[in-house]
Amino acid sequence: MTDKYEPVIGLEIHIQLSTDSKAYSSDPASYGAPPNTHVSPITLGHPGTLPFVNKKVLEFAIKLGLACGCDLRRENQYARKNYFYADLPKGYQITQDTTPICTGGEISFKTKDGADHKVRLTRIHMEEDAGKSIHDQDPFNTLIDLNRAGVALLEMVSEPDIRSSEEANLFVTEVRKLVRYLEICDGNMEEGSLRCDANISVRPKGTKKFGTKVEVKNMNSIKNVQRAIEYEIKRQVEVLESGGTLYQETRNFDAVSGTTTAMRSKEAANDYRYFPEPDLGPVIITESFIEKIRSLIPALPAELFKKYTEEFGLSSYDATVLTENKDFALYFEDLTSKTKNFKSAANWMIGPVKSYLNENAAVINEFPIESSKIAEIIALIDNNKISFTAGTKQLFPELLKNPGKDINSILIELNLIQESDANSLKPYVAKAMAMYPDKVIEYRSGKKGLLGLFMGEVMKLSGGKADPKVASKLVKEALDEGI
Ligand code: ADP
Ligand code: MG
Repeated sequence: MTDKYEPVIGLEIHIQLSTDSKAYSSDPASYGAPPNTHVSPITLGHPGTLPFVNKKVLEFAIKLGLACGCDLRRENQYARKNYFYADLPKGYQITQDTTPICTGGEISFKTKDGADHKVRLTRIHMEEDAGKSIHDQDPFNTLIDLNRAGVALLEMVSEPDIRSSEEANLFVTEVRKLVRYLEICDGNMEEGSLRCDANISVRPKGTKKFGTKVEVKNMNSIKNVQRAIEYEIKRQVEVLESGGTLYQETRNFDAVSGTTTAMRSKEAANDYRYFPEPDLGPVIITESFIEKIRSLIPALPAELFKKYTEEFGLSSYDATVLTENKDFALYFEDLTSKTKNFKSAANWMIGPVKSYLNENAAVINEFPIESSKIAEIIALIDNNKISFTAGTKQLFPELLKNPGKDINSILIELNLIQESDANSLKPYVAKAMAMYPDKVIEYRSGKKGLLGLFMGEVMKLSGGKADPKVASKLVKEALDEGI
């Protein structure tokens, strides 16, 4: 039934900025302080107080705008959005209405089949958060904590370009990655630092006109954004197929049941009576300010992905894993400045390093081994000084225990250096052949597969230390020519 319809989705994402102070006052913006301790008269909107613009917020907005290829507004005006609610002490929110700081631009990501996909942005504007109403602590009253009131937000609005719940997931994942790379927001959806509202409609496949949209709120994880959209598509199709009508409304997602329920209809929507904020003059953004911020933008995931696939010759899977997290990518950047074996470097990151992080629930900044030491191990293996197994199964675990220890002394202590001198390996080869004289004859009469048997014996006799390349050459020579 659903395949007769095409979903149309646009997302609105609130990005809580990790500035030290709030958007229009010097109150601390940090999370977790005792309730109502970050509240100056400005935050409370007491008469006679004046808000002022936090320059960091402009910087963060411009950073995100540049990263998304938006047009940046040079003259920024603020607007008052009026509504009455207990956790909004001023009775209005300072936001931007008709003059958002960023317009246009796009978010690009790779779909599951590796194709590049772009979603256009409508706008990104600056605003402030409301306080928090707490309903579950006091059995009789709703408690209000105003610490969050006035904390800086960016709101990003996408065009209705998204066509499936998976694409919505990829879009939010990309935005989260981007704000983390830019270090403007911690991207934590569970704590509410990144909040996503989804606008969803369906239309019969092949038609152009958009259907009636429904806005769904209250998803606290990317997975739940996807679930909410999936549920909503199914519900809307069912309503239409049974001859019903859809109304423009706001719905609430319930993560436990995986369903959405009506919250308010468009008719009951607030009239916000926007007007230009009289307490804040327009802020002019100069070219030199923009250029200064441009120079602060780090290498972004898309750029690194391109470098890893095109310059380093890595697979898109490798490049995706390496760029998922900024600090992880930075470690890899560091590592690849010390070794030119990019594939090995990637394998070490995605294999042993990532396993260590997973097993210890650690982040890369807590990883104890310096990148120069991983580069050293890679070189030891490449130069046949130690075997791959000795590197991963012995040297690496020993370094994890003693990250400061000198690699050479570990090699000696654990006796890891490979035997690659032909003269010292020859006796093992001779011994292996003497053990199986009949197999030597079988080999010489054409059963070439027996080479493995002799190699195995040589490795065993050498205590696993024979350099397999040299050993295999010697074994082959001995079998082919006789010694
Ligand atoms: P509103 O005035 O209700 O806020 P907007 O036109 O500002 O609506 O759009 C808000 C969000 O809804 C944007 O992300 C936009 O892409 C999306 N949107 C608009 N129309 C539709 C639609 N018919 N179906 C799905 N999403 C839509
Ligand atoms: Mg709107």
